Amino acid sequence: MAIGTELYRKTLLTIAGNRAVRALTVKYGKRLASRFIAGQQLPKALFQVKELNKKGIMATLDHLGEGIRQLPEAEAYRDAYIRLLDGIADKGVASNVSLKPTQMGLALDREACYRNIRAVARHAASIGNFVRLDMEDSPYTDATLDIVRRLHAEGLRNVGTVLQAYLRRTASDTERCIDDGISLRLVKGAYKEPSSIAYQRKDEVAQQFKHMIRLHLDQGVYTAVATHDDAIIRYVKRYALERRIPKSAFEFQMLYGLRMNEQANLAREGYRIRCYVPYGEMWYPYYTRRLAEKPANLWLVLRNMFR
Ligand SMILES: Cc1cc2nc3c(=O)[nH]c(=O)nc-3n(C[C@H](O)[C@H](O)[C@H](O)COP(=O)(O)OP(=O)(O)OC[C@H]3O[C@@H](n4cnc5c(N)ncnc54)[C@H](O)[C@@H]3O)c2cc1C
Repeated sequence: MAIGTELYRKTLLTIAGNRAVRALTVKYGKRLASRFIAGQQLPKALFQVKELNKKGIMATLDHLGEGIRQLPEAEAYRDAYIRLLDGIADKGVASNVSLKPTQMGLALDREACYRNIRAVARHAASIGNFVRLDMEDSPYTDATLDIVRRLHAEGLRNVGTVLQAYLRRTASDTERCIDDGISLRLVKGAYKEPSSIAYQRKDEVAQQFKHMIRLHLDQGVYTAVATHDDAIIRYVKRYALERRIPKSAFEFQMLYGLRMNEQANLAREGYRIRCYVPYGEMWYPYYTRRLAEKPANLWLVLRNMFR
């Protein structure tokens, strides 16, 4: 069963790379994608964040975009993030930002990417906000961690990143990041990775996920556990309760459009909960990763396309 789900996920991510599939989805799938995307423009996304805040849910805003082809696109995204940070400050909403390193030019020119992210981080620091570098597929893992370390060395400690439980290397990356004081979001991992570097079985991924969580909680290091998986959520709650770890020592994170009732419930129970709110016009890659995580989402799309 677990292997079947993994096969589905990998197959869908492969099909999604096909140009015709992309064109069809962009044409017919926009309305369905709006379940996972908070809007195409910033004002709408900020409005949604305000609504979440009313329920006690914090946010992290993601201006969608990845895998750009030219550096001027990266500069435009950098400027969009600076406007986003100003928008958050203007509206006084409880939100930080999440960005993708390839959106800032990582695949084209590492130094330019570093400078773009540094500009965003400096602006965030000047207004007391925080920047999370999402973790993309494995060719970018080292480069992403290097950028975060360089920024910390420059005193920009308002920058953190993400580690993926499915990568075999992650246990040692987690320990190093904890030693370096780098704030982490812990996730299972959303990309297609080979078995030589990534666990393929759900139970192995869950085991490493729990190990990463324990490494943080045992040392009192603040962490973000990003999952919709009830078993992991229950594990964190129980572990914290048994060891008298306060609810302020960690936060849960979930994606916009997923388990919204559970997000509100966690807030009501006094847990810190942050919703990842993506917005913008480049929604296709983000959307296909969400489809790949749950077969039922794809059937919904196909039913609507053939109606
Ligand atoms: C806030 C946040 C930030 C993330 N950032 C990154 C990142 O930077 N890099 C990265 O590689 N990955 C990232 N991810 C994605 C993550 O790696 C997983 O792919 C994703 O969260 C699904 O795993 P899960 O832990 O929710 O557990 P799963 O076992 O996949 O899901 C548990 C249950 O949650 C529900 N569910 C999960 N996904 C869906 C869905 N798409 N549609 C409907 N129901 C669903 C289902 O009921 C499912 O049974 C992020 C996830 C979150 C929540």
